[in-house]
Amino acid sequence: MLVRDGVIAAIRPEGYEFDADKVIDLAGALLLPGFVDAHAHTTDTGLLLAGVDCSHARSVTEILDAVADLAKKRPGRQVLGHGWDELNLAEGRPPTAQELDRASGGAAVYLSRVDVHSAVVSGTLARAADLDAHEGWHESGRIEREAHHIARHVTRFRIPAAERRELQLLALRRAAEAGLAELHEMSAPHIAPDEDLLNLLQIEEPGLPEIVPYRGELASDESAAREILERFGGRLAGLAGDLMMDGSFGSRTAGLSADYADAHGHRGHLYAHAGQVRDHLVACTKADTQGGFHVIGDDAVAELVEGIRQAAQAVGVSALRKAAHRLEHVEGISAADAQTLAEMGVIASVQPAFDAFWGGRKQMYAVRLGAERALAMNPFADLQRSGVTLAFGSDSPVTPFAPWEAVRAALTHHNEGQRLDIGVAIEAHTAGGRRAGRRPEQGLREGDPAVFAAWTSPGIRVAAAMNVPAPLAALTEELTGGDAVPGLVASEQRRSPRHR
Ligand SMILES: [Zn+2]
Repeated sequence: MLVRDGVIAAIRPEGYEFDADKVIDLAGALLLPGFVDAHAHTTDTGLLLAGVDCSHARSVTEILDAVADLAKKRPGRQVLGHGWDELNLAEGRPPTAQELDRASGGAAVYLSRVDVHSAVVSGTLARAADLDAHEGWHESGRIEREAHHIARHVTRFRIPAAERRELQLLALRRAAEAGLAELHEMSAPHIAPDEDLLNLLQIEEPGLPEIVPYRGELASDESAAREILERFGGRLAGLAGDLMMDGSFGSRTAGLSADYADAHGHRGHLYAHAGQVRDHLVACTKADTQGGFHVIGDDAVAELVEGIRQAAQAVGVSALRKAAHRLEHVEGISAADAQTLAEMGVIASVQPAFDAFWGGRKQMYAVRLGAERALAMNPFADLQRSGVTLAFGSDSPVTPFAPWEAVRAALTHHNEGQRLDIGVAIEAHTAGGRRAGRRPEQGLREGDPAVFAAWTSPGIRVAAAMNVPAPLAALTEELTGGDAVPGLVASEQRRSPRHR
């Protein structure tokens, strides 16, 4: 492959000698277009990398020690962290406000749960932000819904611009190391102030992933939509992303049609209704931008799909399809609703790592929903078979930047019927992401921008030694542990000519 001025100038068979200024021998590495992360939060990822990382904590004591360390290192500043999961903590609960006050010496402390839909805060932060006056506050320091949104707002507004830039750079460099060439930033009023996204768009450093910016703000009509777009200098890809239809399973705020298995009488929350969905999608379609929502529980998905149908009645199916609206997560979707998404040209931005981390009969989804309902979550194969475009993302910091882990998770879905094959999975993490951002296709063809990553792995080396035509065949075996997914390897060999 010959690269000239940032463009793939020529591709020739193995052994061909280009007349080039510089030759790099990739020694049989697998070349793929750069991965696209279709759902990420850059500053929050930076906060996880530079703040209190609770994602490996196994007890409240460990978290409190980490809080005390950071508070001592940076006296007088707020202590932010992320990633605890009470199901992994020996005490079966997160730290309390009182414990956080003691550990931090009275600092403002905010630690988000792994799903970022609830958090615990110190008493100092609770008092400063009047959290006890808002819905979702609990005296233990646990916050969700309105109280949570306010706590996030207050802590994010307090990050000085220079520090924010450092956090964003830290996260973007990590993303580049993971092989990500493009990142869809899901900004929203409850996540961060406008400046957070505007600052991110100012970062220009070669080798970092390109940012495709979204803002999750509800527009009631076309002029409201245009106003939001203008606030961001016309640079937004859409009014989509974390515009909340509901919450999450982990925080029991995802909207369900039947009770949570571990909270009888409780079915989560809907934050928007079909009429608002309709108005928003109509507004976005008319303003020639993408609209979309965060949606997880089956009841929330059903309400949302009803809103999509109403939007189609208002502007027509072809206008709606042309706008290529998008949904985030879409975990609890019925076959009929998947069909509707396909008909309306709505893209599903999904996170395979959610299934790996929480899916199946034994993990968090099963605790919250019961095993049967848990297995029905994230029906990737159903969505794909219905004709819905899939785009993969991490929702980092909810799960790390790790595109191969996402591919692996899609190949090894807890529900065997929902497993994808490797070609489809890689496409969802590359071309699917480009489509989700309504951006021109970009692959490894002559004339395409030279945006690619070279991968080596033992599997690829073995395949090369055996002269297997497609390194993907061996890679499939490696990612799935060989026999784990019968038929996958064989089908990949048949598909090999598609892959360059
Ligand atoms: Zn998100």
